[in-house]
Amino acid sequence: MEKILVTGGAGYIGSHICLKLQESGYLPVVLDNLSNGHRDAISGDIPFVHADIRNRTALDDTFKKFQPTAVIHMAALIEAGLSMQEPASFYEVNTTGSFNLLEAMRHHECRQIVFSSTAAIYGNTNLDMLDETLPAQPENPYGRSKAMVETMIADYCALYGFRSIALRYFNAAGADPSRRTGERHDPETHLIPLALLAAAGRRDGLKIFGNDYDTPDGTCIRDYVHVDDLATAHVKALEHITGKTKPFFDCVNIGTGKGCSVREILMLCREVTGIEFPISDAARRPGDPVKLIANPAKANSLLNWKPKYTDPRETIAHAWAYYCSNPRKSE
Ligand code: UDP
Repeated sequence: MEKILVTGGAGYIGSHICLKLQESGYLPVVLDNLSNGHRDAISGDIPFVHADIRNRTALDDTFKKFQPTAVIHMAALIEAGLSMQEPASFYEVNTTGSFNLLEAMRHHECRQIVFSSTAAIYGNTNLDMLDETLPAQPENPYGRSKAMVETMIADYCALYGFRSIALRYFNAAGADPSRRTGERHDPETHLIPLALLAAAGRRDGLKIFGNDYDTPDGTCIRDYVHVDDLATAHVKALEHITGKTKPFFDCVNIGTGKGCSVREILMLCREVTGIEFPISDAARRPGDPVKLIANPAKANSLLNWKPKYTDPRETIAHAWAYYCSNPRKSE
């Protein structure tokens, strides 16, 4: 069975990717430092290496032991807001950690990598939709740390013969429709899981970070893509690069093409849960781009990917169903 090294595979998105890889006939090998991930987020039959991508020896041992044919690289710090307070950690983990991984891959002649990139790369624009030809202008160190990795990988492709796709995620949301895994950050900072915790009475309501943006209701707009669709995109990207023989690099947006404001999402969370949790207005969160909506056309043309879930109600309903069936795990 073809082995795929999944860094950060015990995290929210990673655990969904492992399910898709297994369903598609691959053997995921997970390497995770468990700083945000959970050992029990992935099934016990998946080989697991408890290690950090900054530890080159651990990476070398992992490549030697498992000889993966490709890497899906997700291990990273992900909170854009936090990156405004602790930029050094983001450059250390995301940028130098990725460099370390690329060097280990080069040394062990594993040259295929699907990279978790981000819509945060686009920063603030006044565009209704973002496509991959736009220049990278990240608003925060999180986006910049990822943009730097895209640049490094492009060079490794052009000059060391790597094949790679960087998937620029918009806002991952929802949970496995069969409730096998879901979102479990600690502390939680993302909008939908926080709203669901508020609905469950585990938080004193939800604060909207900024109500005076230049949008129809004054709150930020994001493109919420179902995590199950996001996971499918990784398998398609993997198949795309492993089917090639020449060096290859491309960046692909993974989003639905539809935007929802913070206020709209909160109204949908109230509707799905049937609970009128309190909502209040608060100051803007520094580093927040006002609007991020994907143009998903390239994902469709290059990878034959289209989102299966386009109604945010359904996405939120899956997140809520996971929360309700695993309340302790989700907190
Ligand atoms: N947000 C908010 N209140 C919260 C958490 C998030 O208003 O308690 C807003 C946040 O400012 C952003 C949007 O919700 O405009 C999505 O934020 P999230 O942290 O979920 O994802 P990001 O877009 O930062 O990756």
